[in-house]
Amino acid sequence: MHLGIRNEQTTLERRVAVPPQAVESFTELGFEVTLEQGAGTGAGFNDDDFTGAGASVVEALAGDSVDVLLTVSRPDLGGTLGIKDGGVLIGLINPGSDPDLEAGLRARSITPIAMELIPRTTLAQSIDALSSQATAAGYAAVLLGATTLPKFMPMFVTAAGTVPPARVLVLGVGVAGLQAIATAKRLGAIVYAYDIRPDTKEQVESLGARFVEAPTQEMDEGGYARTLDEDVAARQREVLAGIVADSDLIITTAQVPGRPAPRLIDRDVVATMKAGSLIIDMAAGSGGNVEGSVADEEVMVDGVRILGPTDLASHVAADASRMYGRNLLELLKRMVTDDGFTVDPEDPIVGPAIVTTKEDRHE
Ligand code: NAD
Repeated sequence: MHLGIRNEQTTLERRVAVPPQAVESFTELGFEVTLEQGAGTGAGFNDDDFTGAGASVVEALAGDSVDVLLTVSRPDLGGTLGIKDGGVLIGLINPGSDPDLEAGLRARSITPIAMELIPRTTLAQSIDALSSQATAAGYAAVLLGATTLPKFMPMFVTAAGTVPPARVLVLGVGVAGLQAIATAKRLGAIVYAYDIRPDTKEQVESLGARFVEAPTQEMDEGGYARTLDEDVAARQREVLAGIVADSDLIITTAQVPGRPAPRLIDRDVVATMKAGSLIIDMAAGSGGNVEGSVADEEVMVDGVRILGPTDLASHVAADASRMYGRNLLELLKRMVTDDGFTVDPEDPIVGPAIVTTKEDRHE
């Protein structure tokens, strides 16, 4: 069984689907691992690290060379994917976003498996790439904030005077938000946090942060937030406005799956912040939590800097790749059998992650 690893290196993507440390584990599962040269450079891994671990390096995966192609993000069908007809593509492929890719794969009987669709259950925890990458991104957001902000995060008591700690506000307390709170606390900031889900209050407080008492609402059956009624959303923005004005650094992470991100901070509220304050809108790629934020750009509003990075996990590409590679390994362990490799639609973890098209559902 041949396993391929793409070179996905761009300025925004520095991760690789499998780091050298994991190659041996894939080999033990029965795969011959081949990667495109330079695939690990952004994460600090050389081709020699991979060959030393038993992988082969090629200039580009050509033709029908691999049974399984592992990818971090969605590939472009324009490029040669290198997957055999009947093979499998696995990655954070943003299902539904590129009907041409999905139709193209289907025409070649290639099964796409979207890591975004792996169930968020205890059983699937070790395969949950959304969580592993959100952990990396939440951590990186705070470090980006700490180095961009023109002030210290902790309180400093020195001969040159006492400097108060930074006040950090985290909006959205999912996986990324929890990691952002923990990281900002470790750096000594005063941290406030808020999420629409009521059970996050206890989680926020257990990390030593203070919960902002804005409206909360029960979640859906899957544990996710829903889109709010406009009157609740307006009350929420009103309560948040008070604390936004006093914050030095705000990190927003709020998402509603399958919907544009909820607007939590209006532009006139941004303007109430002190000049030199910073907002990092982690939802900028899906519409933004902050009015005026732009994905992967910096916007200034009355002296307040708003960043919308979509590549935060790539800021810590080595460890993000390590965690992602582990997620893929655990998934493949479920799919390898004594007879080879199967994609079992009945498997409670693999089944829901198989991307189906309208045509599949009508068969
Ligand atoms: P996400 O990225 O979808 O959203 C981030 C946060 O934004 C969520 O906490 C959400 O409640 C919040 N949010 C949405 N709308 C909001 C609004 N209007 N105002 C304020 N906050 C808002 O979330 P995620 O990090 O992927 O996690 C979502 C859920 O999945 C959580 O309940 C989490 O506990 C659960 N989860 C469970 C497992 C598991 O059981 N293994 C693993 C991961 C996540």
